[in-house]
Amino acid sequence: MDRNHSRALRQRLESLAAAGVIQIPKAPGPRPADRRTAANEVRPSGATRPATVSIPDEPETDRVRDLRILHQQVADCTACGELAAARTTTVFGAGPPDARICFFGEAPGADEDASGQPFVGRAGQLLTKIIEACSLRREDVYILNVLKCRPPGNRPPEAEEIANCRRYFERQFEVISPGYICCLGTTAAQSLLQTVEPIGKLRKRWFTYGSAKVICTYHPSYLLRNPAAKRDVWDDVRMMMADMGVEL
Ligand code: URA
Repeated sequence: MDRNHSRALRQRLESLAAAGVIQIPKAPGPRPADRRTAANEVRPSGATRPATVSIPDEPETDRVRDLRILHQQVADCTACGELAAARTTTVFGAGPPDARICFFGEAPGADEDASGQPFVGRAGQLLTKIIEACSLRREDVYILNVLKCRPPGNRPPEAEEIANCRRYFERQFEVISPGYICCLGTTAAQSLLQTVEPIGKLRKRWFTYGSAKVICTYHPSYLLRNPAAKRDVWDDVRMMMADMGVEL
């Protein structure tokens, strides 16, 4: 990514942060024995891949600790050689560790790879609008992907890559223990539910994953190409919110 694109991305992230849409972790203050780098911190262009994950100042809950340990394992992962070699940083996920709703996407794109944050590009902005249309704030939900590394050229994830990342997203769901999971698109839905049914057949049905209720809808990137499908996504998220007792 060139310097101008990097600067533009950083400005966009900062304006999203200023609007409360995303949170950019603050750099930790100097700690004599323990000055670490946040793996999901916005980094200047050309920065090398972070090796460690930040440790918060507040006392950790079990969930925060478990996610921090997992985050570090993801940051260190080299299971998919091609992806690990090409990535700027891993994209672990973001949101409250005790979120009631998780939105589950496919894989980081270029903007996510540069920033370490999920869904911050064009598809991410549309996801934010979907979340807000549900009367929620983005910072109230947890957002994660099947893959934690960007597939080069944004190609679809390969089966082996999904298998390698399965342990990470399964553990994230186990720790967060959400009440609801909204799968965004084919890869997320098929990976979570371990099915080959197409997304069109998975919509408008309830599934379970652990103790979570699962709905499936189209990916925001698909909506960017097919705006007419926004109506279907609206129906899907309304079904989820109605089940939560929120009529939209
Ligand atoms: N698409 C995804 O599936 N995830 C992201 O984080 C960004 C785009």
